[in-house]
Amino acid sequence: MAERILIVEDEERIARFVELELRHEGYEVDKAADGRTGLERMESGEYDLVLLDIMLPGLNGLEVLRRARRTVDTPVIMLTARDTVMDKVTGLDMGAEDYITKPFEIEELLARIRVCLRKVERRTARAKALEVGDLVLDPDRHTVSYDGHPVELTHREFDLLKILMENEGIVMARSTLMERVWGYDYMGETNIVDVYVRYLRGKLDDAYGVKLLHTVRGVGYVLRIG
Ligand code: CA
Repeated sequence: MAERILIVEDEERIARFVELELRHEGYEVDKAADGRTGLERMESGEYDLVLLDIMLPGLNGLEVLRRARRTVDTPVIMLTARDTVMDKVTGLDMGAEDYITKPFEIEELLARIRVCLRKVERRTARAKALEVGDLVLDPDRHTVSYDGHPVELTHREFDLLKILMENEGIVMARSTLMERVWGYDYMGETNIVDVYVRYLRGKLDDAYGVKLLHTVRGVGYVLRIG
């Protein structure tokens, strides 16, 4: 699906030119010619990116950004005609991703847009996956990888590893791990946790020559690097 970009810019000539270029690149584009309309559109949360001019009728761009940030975190690139440090600093402080000074080359704007969208994409992906060093666990896709190599785990092994990764560096008692992976009413072997940690060690520590799963004598286990 095409990424949606909102242009908030009162200079029709610039807005129109940028719109055509962005459409040519395959983006979906909407425009707003004043601050209040821009703010309303931004607050809809329908955009992947907003190009926000600073000098706008109604509300200026900095004010639009300040108000919009109460409800949405859509990435913003500020368009500033005045090459003043103050506007840039204020804009970035208020949560703009980037700024570009007018007049700009369209190629530079397109490059900044691509960087900005990629950065946000990576951030979103990272927020979902758990990472400890080279070990990555993706709860949504139910996958684990070490240094880019897929690691095949059973359901229980996955659940156990997930809890240990969520609590990286924190010693987890055997009883806690047992309750959270096997449930309160588990009536099987009491050394089940040890058995599964052994399985995980085989598939991670031994397989990749690392030390991730540490035994804390008399207490339980902790996952940390080294
Ligand atoms: Ca303007």
